[in-house]
This record gives sequence, C-alpha cells and structure tokens, in this order.
Amino acid sequence: MADTTGVEIQLEDVTKRYSGQREPAVDGFTMTIKPGETTIFVGPSGCGKTTTMRMINRLIEPTSGRIAIGGEDALSIDPDELRRRIGYSIQQAGLFPHLTVEQNVGVVPGLLRWEKTRIRDRVTEMLELVGMDPEQFRDRFPRQLSGGQQQRVGVARALAADPPVLLMDEPFGAVDPITRGNLQDELMRLQTELRKTIVFVTHDFDEAVKLGDQIAVLGERSRILQYGTPESILANPADDTVAGFVGAGASLKQLTLLRVRDIELNTDTATATEDESPAEVRKRLDDAGATFLLIVDAQRRPLRWAHARQVTGISLASVGTPVGDKVSTQSTLQDALEAILTEGGDAVVTGTRGELVGTVQLETVVAKIRELREEHNA
Ligand code: ADP
Ligand code: MG
Repeated sequence: MADTTGVEIQLEDVTKRYSGQREPAVDGFTMTIKPGETTIFVGPSGCGKTTTMRMINRLIEPTSGRIAIGGEDALSIDPDELRRRIGYSIQQAGLFPHLTVEQNVGVVPGLLRWEKTRIRDRVTEMLELVGMDPEQFRDRFPRQLSGGQQQRVGVARALAADPPVLLMDEPFGAVDPITRGNLQDELMRLQTELRKTIVFVTHDFDEAVKLGDQIAVLGERSRILQYGTPESILANPADDTVAGFVGAGASLKQLTLLRVRDIELNTDTATATEDESPAEVRKRLDDAGATFLLIVDAQRRPLRWAHARQVTGISLASVGTPVGDKVSTQSTLQDALEAILTEGGDAVVTGTRGELVGTVQLETVVAKIRELREEHNA
C-alpha cells in the first residue's frame, strides 16, 4: 500500500515569460501549498494555470523565481528523481496508445529500474486502488477503454511510484458529467487514504468547491485573486471578479458544505409500529394534528410513509408507501434537499444502525439558504 504522504510546495516570485510574448504568462507567483491537502488552481482559460503547474515538475522551466518541494530546491533535483516525487495526470489521460494498461501504469517504475515482478505487483495494486479489475484490464490498450476508464488508468499511472505530490491538470475535463462526478468521488476517497499533496487545475468552480481543501482563484498572468478554503471564498469573495466567478448560486453551493448535523432536526414526526392498532394510531394523529405518519419497525427503522387518511382497517402492515432516499447526519444539506425533492416530503434522517433520528423539512433548508444569502450580502 502507498504510504508516502504529502510534502509542502513553495513557489516564490515565480515568473514565466514565453519567448516572443510581450507579457509574462505567469507573473511573480508566490504561494505555499500545504502538505497532504488538495489545492485547486481555478480560473478562466488562458490565465496561466497549466504554466504555473508545469513549473512545479519542470516540464516548463521558470524564467525566474524559486520553487521548493519538501524544503528542497526543485531546480537542483535531478529530473528523474523529480518524476518519482511528482505524479502527473492530464486531460484525456495522456496514455501512450501503443502501450497496454500494464505498460502505461508501469512507465515511471520502469524509468526507475524497478524489478519486473515488483512493477507487476505495483500495477495490480494501483489498478485495484482506482477500482479496475487488474486481470480484466491489464492487457488492454487505451483505445479499448471508455473515457472514464482511461482517466482511472491515468491516475493509477500518476500514483505508481508513490509520489508525495500529485499534479492534475483538468484530469476529468474530457468525460461526461456522470462519469466526472464518479471520478471526483473516487479521488476524494483516495485522498482521504493517501493524503498526498495534490495540486489540481480546473476552470470549473463547482469542481473546485467539491474537491478542494484550499482554492486559489487565479486571474490573468496567474495573479492570485483569492486563496483560502472553499467555505471562506463562498462566504466572502474577495472582490467583484471572484464574486462573478463564484456565481449567483453561491448560497446554494454552500449547501454542499453544510451537513445535516449542522441544522436542527425535526423530531416531532408521528411514528407507529406495524403491530399497533390503526384506530389508536389514528386517534393519536388527530390529537396531535398530524397529517403524516412514519411507520417504523421494532428497531425504529423507517419503513413507510402514510397519510392520516390511510390509517384505517385492521392492520398497518400494508399501509403507506416505502421510504425511498434516506440521509444521515453526515450527509450534505444538498443531499437532504435532493431527498426532499425526490421523495416529495420530509427527508428521513437515520443513524448508524438505520434507526430514525429525525427528519429534515423543506422549510428548514429554505431558511438556511436565506440565512446564508443574508450573510453573503452583509
Ligand atoms: P491555462 O492553463 O490557464 O489555460 P496556460 O498556462 O496554458 O493557461 O497559458 C497561459 C498563457 O500563456 C496563454 O496566453 C497562452 O497562450 C500562453 N502560452 C501557453 N503555452 C505557451 C507556449 N508554449 N508558448 C507561448 N505562449 C504560451
Ligand atoms: Mg490549461
């Protein structure tokens, strides 16, 4: 298993001037990138994200300035050594078309002259890590893979030599939105395990909010317009340019940062078990002025929603409609809102053993959005 965790990266007054260009592509860029975190460079096309990133692994040599990786001057590190320390994954995966999956993932270990069996074991491990069956895929060529599978192989290749640093340049830019969402989820899962220093470039602010521990919003010539956590940027855009980039839906985006545990749950929902008498339950509902009933099992796990009118007959065993999407206290408010909208009623919140802990009402979510918007405009 990979066990090399991240190191700090420092860029100090780094400038890149391409020959024949009057303006520098990157102008005096200074930043400390925290070890073991995911830092996102987000900004419009042409602002210098790729140039800035590629100077970190010296695919592009800076015109001036200093770059340190784990406290060591990057310009003094042997390029082969630098490649071992820095994984690199790009859009379209950048796989070699004439090499198999196994050969692609083994490229850097091969450069490092690892033993054949060690490379083979490492490829197996990496494919498993990115959720691909090694036996099914190792001998395939890139053209025999879907776009999403190619990206996974690209990530496996970047991680193969267990680098403390991973650079990712719009790695999910070329896949459909659903695959993209899945790959983002996978990367987040991987990162909680691996704790690499990841620098991730995107022009998509939503992707930045989802993946970033830190976000650097970049403007022309890679000027840092704002650098901070997603929460701080969403709540407090530094200026109009950032605010414009963050977008009108900023308070809605904050729903993805808030958890169900951050709001007060409704615990007044009427409940009953299947063995109770419908007549008694109906009386209880009427006394409480409740319109809906949540039928639960003996362990208080939610089973079905029923309208008070349905609570008749001899048993509750066949009454109501099954509870669909449920959320936990760890779920985001975005998830809760989606559950409310698909269920057409309160979102059911369950605990670790599936037991009912409360519900989230649409009014509570709406009130939270309103509160965020007011903070925003304050
Ligand atoms: P981004 O990744 O944010 O889209 P880039 O770093 O690719 O931005 O490009 C920044 C600027 O540098 C752009 O104006 C681009 O045209 C220019 N540029 C990029 N690569 C080269 C190059 N090899 N030669 C000359 N200009 C370049
Ligand atoms: Mg780019």
